[in-house]
Amino acid sequence: MTSPAQASIDLRAIRDNIALLRDRAGGADVMAMVKAEAYGHGMEEAALAALAGGATWLGVAKLAEGLRLRASVPQVPIMVCLGVPGEPYDRAIGADLDLTAGTVWLVDEIAAAARTAGRTARVHLKADTGMSRGGAGPADWPAVIAAALAAQADGLIRVVGLYSHLACADEPGDPSIPLQLGAFKEAVELAENAGLRPDVRHLANSAAILTLPEARYDLVRPGIAAYGLSPVPRLGGFGLRPAMSLTAAVAAVKRAPAGSGVSYGHTYVTERETTLALVPAGYGDGVPRHGSNLLEVLAGGARRRIAGRVCMDQFVIDMADDQISPGDEVILFGPGDHGELTAQDWADAIGTISYEIVTRIGSRVPRRYEPLDPGPLDPGR
Ligand SMILES: *Cc1c(COP(=O)(O)O)cnc(C)c1O
Repeated sequence: MTSPAQASIDLRAIRDNIALLRDRAGGADVMAMVKAEAYGHGMEEAALAALAGGATWLGVAKLAEGLRLRASVPQVPIMVCLGVPGEPYDRAIGADLDLTAGTVWLVDEIAAAARTAGRTARVHLKADTGMSRGGAGPADWPAVIAAALAAQADGLIRVVGLYSHLACADEPGDPSIPLQLGAFKEAVELAENAGLRPDVRHLANSAAILTLPEARYDLVRPGIAAYGLSPVPRLGGFGLRPAMSLTAAVAAVKRAPAGSGVSYGHTYVTERETTLALVPAGYGDGVPRHGSNLLEVLAGGARRRIAGRVCMDQFVIDMADDQISPGDEVILFGPGDHGELTAQDWADAIGTISYEIVTRIGSRVPRRYEPLDPGPLDPGR
């Protein structure tokens, strides 16, 4: 049965993208970032595909994501990037999740939780090297190191990593990049001179892996590139393959006379007698409402612009006199193999980034996974 709207996820693409990134990382280990349902692709499935491609670490944003992922991936280190007060850190430590700390209070809170859990917490200290988001800035970094050393001496934590995040790696040549690289080098030196011996130092996101060899260190953290979307679109696709295709089956087709107002607000009016097709995917599924009268989908072998406003559950396309029938497949976006737009094209059309296009494809849209290995009944064999 075809679903009204479904996302097909090519797990081989994720595996192969990770293998490509691992190659480009020049010997650094790979932490696949699978936060936010692996940017909409499905956290557990994407994680296993990334491991098949050679990732040896997994990264999530939130503790709840880490706890959920641990149930499917018992062995691999999983790092939680966000540190928030009052989280169940004792449970996280019990689940052997790697935690992030960029403040003294969080080091102390994790140490206290480790005492409760009766087990040493694995911690990555996060330096703010110029993004002004999470992590300790230069003024606070020495105190964070001191707190970590004290907790480590008590056996409550082990500092396994030192890391930071780049603000403008997707804009090669931005003057903040060398400043952040320099600040990270200093932060690492300060921590190591104080006596910390982390297993891994890490800085590079997707854009840095592909454009900034100096940022590689021991471990790299690709997110968007793992899903096949370019972190620096103006430099091309880097040989990555988009993993997600969003399709829908046409729900209804009708002829409409010239002058018919279409969808809420009648922002589209037919110029002549035409065929309208109803596509059952809307902003409740993650099709951006900003894409009204802008985004194009592939229907009946050609690109058709969304006619009128995107509704919560559906939108309309104007087929002119071309043939289309209920049940026919419409490709909203995909790798581009059939002439459909990509998530990057959608992002460009509405002024956002590809990250947001795929991540917002909601839980109402069923995921269909193209497996890593073709099954015994796979006709391709
Ligand atoms: C999300 C995230 C990444 C991945 O960023 P991409 O630009 O998607 O490669 C890397 N590091 C951290 C800390 C993140 O939160």
